[in-house]
Amino acid sequence: MIPREFEYHAPKTLPDAITLLQRLGDDAKLLAGGHSLLPMMKLRFAQPGHLIDLGRIAELKGIREDGGTLVIGAMTTENEIVWSKLLQAKCPLLVEGARQISDPQVRYKGTIGGDISHGDPGNDHPALMLALGASFVLRGAGGERVVPADGFFRGTYDTLLAPGEIMTQIRIPTPASGSGYCYAKLKRKTGDFATAAAAVLLRMQGGVVDDVRIALTNVGPTPLRATAAEAAVRGKRLDDAAIHEAARLAMSICAPAPDQRGDEEYKTAMAGEMTVRALVKARERCA
Ligand SMILES: Cc1cc2nc3c(=O)[nH]c(=O)nc-3n(C[C@H](O)[C@H](O)[C@H](O)COP(=O)(O)OP(=O)(O)OC[C@H]3O[C@@H](n4cnc5c(N)ncnc54)[C@H](O)[C@@H]3O)c2cc1C
Repeated sequence: MIPREFEYHAPKTLPDAITLLQRLGDDAKLLAGGHSLLPMMKLRFAQPGHLIDLGRIAELKGIREDGGTLVIGAMTTENEIVWSKLLQAKCPLLVEGARQISDPQVRYKGTIGGDISHGDPGNDHPALMLALGASFVLRGAGGERVVPADGFFRGTYDTLLAPGEIMTQIRIPTPASGSGYCYAKLKRKTGDFATAAAAVLLRMQGGVVDDVRIALTNVGPTPLRATAAEAAVRGKRLDDAAIHEAARLAMSICAPAPDQRGDEEYKTAMAGEMTVRALVKARERCA
């Protein structure tokens, strides 16, 4: 289908974009890479009268490290993440996740800020953000606030972003060197969303789990942080029994919507399998 007619705006600064957003209100939508918004507009699930393109705002781009924090501009594309030497060295979990998003065309235009702001539980960055302990900088007319990824995702397509706010940055505490990591994603074919996926960030010390974060994609109305699974292995040797117990606990929080990718039972089982694979690989990768 063809989208409803709309007016296109391309502000060059963040204050201009915020002013426009405030002036146009509910009739406006922010445009990032367009790979979720434009399909929705074509289906007429979204019918904005105005699109505010964030693509010309230089300060929304870029990847840098500031102290112990990796700072990523919301308009940074998946491709830029995949090819970032800094992220390859300091945050390979994010690189591994971004590389598995859809296909090169989507990765070339799609942005990390759009992927997170969209609030789709099928998107990969939300669970990666939970595993990495990220926080998001949201800016509106009233100023700036920083919110943790934990609690940001309220429901399907529902986040803590308030009307009039723009996500400007993603902040990730630089993972300790030697951390193990893995994003294990099951998809039916290249370019598809996850049937189920698990993100793991792991630190071992003296043969036991010093710290671990486990998060799941597309097996609930939001990404899920598997806190009981984390607690079950923290302070323990990460042997096969501990890994399978963590997977059982991860499965116990899953409530996937059945669709063409599988029914509830199958998707839940695959979330368990992805948890096992991600923990095994993360254990191997621990220095
Ligand atoms: C065929 C196909 C397969 C895909 N497969 C996957 C996949 O496997 N994994 C995956 O994670 N994603 C997948 N996607 C989605 C893709 O990654 C999108 O690019 C992403 O969901 C949205 O990012 P975007 O930059 O395109 O945002 P847009 O589509 O431009 O925007 C999405 C929403 O976020 C809002 N928004 C955008 N930026 C901001 C901001 N800075 N602040 C506040 N609100 C903002 C917009 O207003 C809009 O409501 C797929 C898409 C397609 C078309």
